[in-house]
Amino acid sequence: MRYAEHISELVGHTPLVRLTRVTEGLSATILAKVEYVNPGGSVKDRIALKMIEAAEASGELRPGGTIVEPTSGNTGVGLALVAQRKGYDCVFVCPDKVSEDKRDVLRAYGARVVVTPTAVPPDHPDSYYSVSDRLVQEIPGAWKPNQYANPNGPLSHYESTGPEVWADTDARVTHFVAGVGTGGTITGTGRYLKEVSAGRSEGGPVRIVGADPAGSVYSGGDGRPYLVEGVGEDFWPAAYDPQVPDEVIAVTDADSFAMTRRLAREEGLLVGGSCGMAVEAALRLAGRLEEEDAAAAADAVIVVLLPDGGRGYLSKIFSDTWMRSYGFLPDEEGVTAGDILR
Ligand code: PMP
Repeated sequence: MRYAEHISELVGHTPLVRLTRVTEGLSATILAKVEYVNPGGSVKDRIALKMIEAAEASGELRPGGTIVEPTSGNTGVGLALVAQRKGYDCVFVCPDKVSEDKRDVLRAYGARVVVTPTAVPPDHPDSYYSVSDRLVQEIPGAWKPNQYANPNGPLSHYESTGPEVWADTDARVTHFVAGVGTGGTITGTGRYLKEVSAGRSEGGPVRIVGADPAGSVYSGGDGRPYLVEGVGEDFWPAAYDPQVPDEVIAVTDADSFAMTRRLAREEGLLVGGSCGMAVEAALRLAGRLEEEDAAAAADAVIVVLLPDGGRGYLSKIFSDTWMRSYGFLPDEEGVTAGDILR
């Protein structure tokens, strides 16, 4: 019999899927690394497992302890499912822009959720950073993973995501594209891929390309708000090493959401908004390679990481009403049965 003792043992080893429709006209091979098949539904399961195991080893997290973290949802799910197995309580602090669906998922795993306003600066006492700090000080046995600064976040990607990409492409990956939130994914995966490919004779080292919502600091913005969730920042987290990415491409909300919808309709990939953003950046990169050197572009193997699934965004990105309310879709009458039968 082949089975896992617990669902948390199945984190990682996610598949690569070639994109074939949204890539029309581009000769590069573009492979999506599909992280929604992780047990908690996102890439964040990887850092959750690593951060908890490291905190147990260092003694920061003791039996019966409580995990307190400001999280937009995905990290919370990962932490909650690992915590469940190991007998820890979880308290998560979420900004109010995070969908109700995502907060309910955290509650379903048995966590408690505290909601804070998005429209306050990070140093404000009601910000989700400040509120979580206060909870950590006042709950006995509390431990805060602090995904924004915890070196085990990037390290989990250095040890798992990077080696998986390298092995699954038979060492042929030429570019790695990922959205930047805490920066853990791009820093850890990028560092590994650069190191392992440093001496490669053909193609040179893997180029690491960040994708960022227009307005966020990583692509030169001032922290102006955007709607895509889980990526972009208004400060520079320690989990992000700006030396790792060779470039960062800024993508607007409108382009991110349009591509997110196309991935569901044309590639069968129901994924989140930061996935559309990353794929849009990967396609722009592929287009530029094509213009610069068509022969080299045909040999390019671009891996783009898709952090989570689309179920948590049904009432937003996949709702025509919501999309229209922000001007992302033209005004239109609803489709009737008559329109379809005509
Ligand atoms: N997309 C989503 C939906 C996320 O939750 C996150 C994590 N914040 C990211 C992308 C970015 O990953 P990272 O924090 O590793 O930069």
